[in-house]
Amino acid sequence: MSSTSEVFAALAPYGWDQAWADQFTPHAAEGLLPGRVVRVDRGQCDVITAGGVLRADTAFVTPHDPLRVVCTGDWVAVEPGGNPRYVRSYLPRRTAFVRSTSSKRSEGQILAANVDHAVVAVSLAVELDLGRVERFLALAWESGAQPVVVLSKADLVPDPETLAHLVRDVETAAPGVPVLTVSALRGEGLDTLVALVGAGTSVLLGQSGAGKSTLANALLGEDVMDVRAARDVDGKGRHTTTTRNLLALPGGGVLIDTPGLRGVGLWDAETGVGQVFAEIEELAQECRFHDCAHDSEPGCAVTAAVETGRLPVRRLESYRKLVRENQWIVAKTDARARAELRRDWKRKGAEGRAAMQAKRGHLR
Ligand code: GDP
Ligand code: ZN
Repeated sequence: MSSTSEVFAALAPYGWDQAWADQFTPHAAEGLLPGRVVRVDRGQCDVITAGGVLRADTAFVTPHDPLRVVCTGDWVAVEPGGNPRYVRSYLPRRTAFVRSTSSKRSEGQILAANVDHAVVAVSLAVELDLGRVERFLALAWESGAQPVVVLSKADLVPDPETLAHLVRDVETAAPGVPVLTVSALRGEGLDTLVALVGAGTSVLLGQSGAGKSTLANALLGEDVMDVRAARDVDGKGRHTTTTRNLLALPGGGVLIDTPGLRGVGLWDAETGVGQVFAEIEELAQECRFHDCAHDSEPGCAVTAAVETGRLPVRRLESYRKLVRENQWIVAKTDARARAELRRDWKRKGAEGRAAMQAKRGHLR
């Protein structure tokens, strides 16, 4: 059995730190081994431990709640032996990426755990879609990770003034988020990204074609596929070839890259949306009504800011869209929320009809 310091040295490149070690103490007392999940597949997972990658069964940690299923990025307590060898427990997650086709409470699916940085890749090869950037940022904030925007393929915007302009546009859509420009082709801006992801665990988000694979290769400094197919020794001393979705970066830090995370769809990201639109939520504090919809309410500080030009109307529209979308996702399975929404829509419909009738009456 390895000593605590050996475990520390072996697992630190995968994100192990003193806080994890402290939390692991009771499991260590039971003789269990700490490790991080690098892949999950049909009831089995691959766990990197101080002694190499082990295959373990997740039957003990597969409760009915799909959000409590072990996933890539989890720190687990595995049995030192056994056939099968079992994952006995996992440490409380610091952050979690959850896909929810529905409400978080019912049918969410956990995609990655303990992610510190969510790198949102945005291609400069195509026209900027700030609404899409905001959506990815909402997902990122919602997970608990700190988002970072990487404007990729910067070599395609040779004019520095144009580039600065694009960066400023993205910055207005991303309060509290660092915005970097990177050209993987020319190797420009990569050092800043390497430094940023150098501590903690990162994921790459973004549309297909945004340059995520290229960035991953640049960060890894070699072909991802080769690294992925690393040959590991399993518990019985056999060499096995595994696909890893979690990789230690040569410049420090860890990269999680799972197929599920890449193709993000609809998520339940209420808090996340609030953080993306922090300045709107701040303005909303000044609205006369607590439940102001920033529509046509009197004393609305948000619409007032749009009128004075302080808040771009595009931001408000994008905010409304994401809030609505999020309500819809939650409402899809949450019956109570659905009933509330319906009541709300009915009220709005009635108000709309009343307003229309008043208008007609007025015109008559
Ligand atoms: P992914 O779908 O997000 O993984 O995107 P890829 O990494 O596969 O990149 C999509 C395309 O963009 C590929 O054809 C890359 O060669 C190209 N690309 C990626 N990075 C750069 C860059 O820095 N400059 C240029 N000009 N093209 C790039
Ligand atoms: Zn308002």
